Amino acid sequence: MKAVRFHQHGDPDVLRYEDAPDPQPASGRAIVHVRACALNHLDLWERRGIERVTLPLPHISGSDVAGEVASVSDASVPPGTKVMLQPGVRCGECTPCRSGRDNHCVRYDVLGLQSDGGYAEMISIPIENLIPFPAHVDFITAAAFPLTFLTAWHMLMTRAGMREHDTVLVLAGGSGVGQAAIQLARVSGARVFATSAPDKMDRTRALGAEDVFDHYTGDYAKEIKRVTGGRGADIVVEHVGEATWERSVRALANGGRLVTCGATTGHRAAMDLRHLFARQLSLLGSYMGTFAELREAASLLFAGRVRPVIDEVFPLARAAVAQRRLEEKGQFGKIVLQVA
Ligand SMILES: [Zn+2]
Repeated sequence: MKAVRFHQHGDPDVLRYEDAPDPQPASGRAIVHVRACALNHLDLWERRGIERVTLPLPHISGSDVAGEVASVSDASVPPGTKVMLQPGVRCGECTPCRSGRDNHCVRYDVLGLQSDGGYAEMISIPIENLIPFPAHVDFITAAAFPLTFLTAWHMLMTRAGMREHDTVLVLAGGSGVGQAAIQLARVSGARVFATSAPDKMDRTRALGAEDVFDHYTGDYAKEIKRVTGGRGADIVVEHVGEATWERSVRALANGGRLVTCGATTGHRAAMDLRHLFARQLSLLGSYMGTFAELREAASLLFAGRVRPVIDEVFPLARAAVAQRRLEEKGQFGKIVLQVA
């Protein structure tokens, strides 16, 4: 098959469109013809090399995959079935797995991290990771959905316990996680605000944000207090890290919850601990989500109530150009590779 692989870590030039061995059928697993694969920041970190993580080389990235089933070891899903893939891979045997907390699995992997991902014409995947989707959903949309909506769902619904009428502030509303969080908060009946670059404000509003604040030059902590009569946000959705942490803590209402799934600008943050206890704040970490959560989130996609925003589609062979676009932060929504 054709695949995009890197043989050593480095800048986007290390990505090679080349021949790679076909994945082989195995017990408990399916082979899927990849039709589309969406990019995530994780792909960039894999390519650059991650501290204390050794990736198998050559490596195929890609966590967000949609395609057609080629074969399934137990014949439980017919060939040709259109599927999206749950990007979290679990062992199924440890205590967290047995209690449905899949993303706490002691051997948890994200598709394309330790395993080969979707920058390829074919992929091998555990059968339980197949999520069939209806005919009215296209491959590009299906590929752009799983990781960001699963992440945003786990952050808002499970970790932060979002309730109707909560005020939610979503950082970087035009990012993959941002656009998912805005839509999920909106359909849950929350009041939603967001930050974005000035040129992305109109599109961020169109996703359902009541107001959008300048992410770079303004003080969104002051802005959110202004529009909430001095209270602040019940929930702040963080994934930016060092550059925004202090403002995000200040943006919280008393008793507010800050939930974070990433630190794209750096992972060293400081805070005044007096705010934490005196204002009874909660700081919540979140990582991926469970199989049950993705099925719930996907039902909203299938019903047309949420939809991933597509920024641009590139052919698989142009993966390096696509990754550069993500690296330069010019995108609004998901960048997707189309596989013929
Ligand atoms: Zn497990």
